[in-house]
Amino acid sequence: MTIARRALPLRHSLLVAAVAVLCALAVTFIRPPAARGAEHRAPRASHSLLASSLASNANDSTRMAFLDTLRGASKKLRARFLSPRRAAGIPVLRELFGEPVAQRPGVYTTGDSTGGFHFITMRPFADKVQGRIGTYRIGNFPSERRTAARAITPEGFLEVTLANQDTRISEHFRLRDFLTKDQHHVWPKYLVLREPLLDKLELVLSELRTMGITANQLKVMSGFRTPQYNAQGVGAGGRVTDSRHQYGDAADVYVVNGSKDWMADLNGDGRVDTRDARVLAQAAERVEQRYPELIGGVGIYKATSAHGPFVHIDVRGTRARWGEL
Ligand SMILES: [Zn+2]
Repeated sequence: MTIARRALPLRHSLLVAAVAVLCALAVTFIRPPAARGAEHRAPRASHSLLASSLASNANDSTRMAFLDTLRGASKKLRARFLSPRRAAGIPVLRELFGEPVAQRPGVYTTGDSTGGFHFITMRPFADKVQGRIGTYRIGNFPSERRTAARAITPEGFLEVTLANQDTRISEHFRLRDFLTKDQHHVWPKYLVLREPLLDKLELVLSELRTMGITANQLKVMSGFRTPQYNAQGVGAGGRVTDSRHQYGDAADVYVVNGSKDWMADLNGDGRVDTRDARVLAQAAERVEQRYPELIGGVGIYKATSAHGPFVHIDVRGTRARWGEL
């Protein structure tokens, strides 16, 4: 009698322990693959998954599998951008980098066999006072105007310094590639940039190569444009007031193959014109067909004396086409 009474709680506690171990294994093995499909649609969800998957009890292969999901559809992203508030909500980032990751803007790098992954803590949007952060002029976003038709306000600004400007945020792009081209002597500079744009540009470059076209480098002629810079060019034949470039999800790009900083002869007809831009636009079209979550604008621009033909690519979330398609 006494033995039976003692055996029951023992069996019970063994059962509880077994269930706990099975649950722990399920968490370890199920979470990383579950995050894959949600990457673009739910960045917030993937960041909280990051927290659990990079937890100290996760083994190295689990960690690597999870970092892999942060590399985007192209698998070429090397950075994620976080507001301080969001960084604070991911305990593992604070474990890895300490409290500064949630307090001090900057680049926080985790080393791994493929050259590191950067978590970049942004300056909060509220740090922009009277259109500036420090002495860097940014201006006011359309959403800050009372008559704003839409209310898109960037989450924050990437702080670009002389020291971090060369940080590789994806396989082929650096932070400085996307800076507004003004205020050359003012540092730090500030940048709004969204990871899906980087992902799409990497995919377009791969797609060109898949199409059998030589494409050594995809050059960004214009990436982020501060509202104050964008406003200078608004007008007939120029920029639009509500340009996607202000939201960090648009870039004007062209392919460079040789030493000359000019669009390459992509269709091989011996000259460089809008037809080459059309080849680049076709690659963007093919990428959108395969990755509808990266849908956006594609516009073709012809050469002027100042620049060669180029293509505008963005990830606005709805299809838009213009120019000589
Ligand atoms: Zn553009």
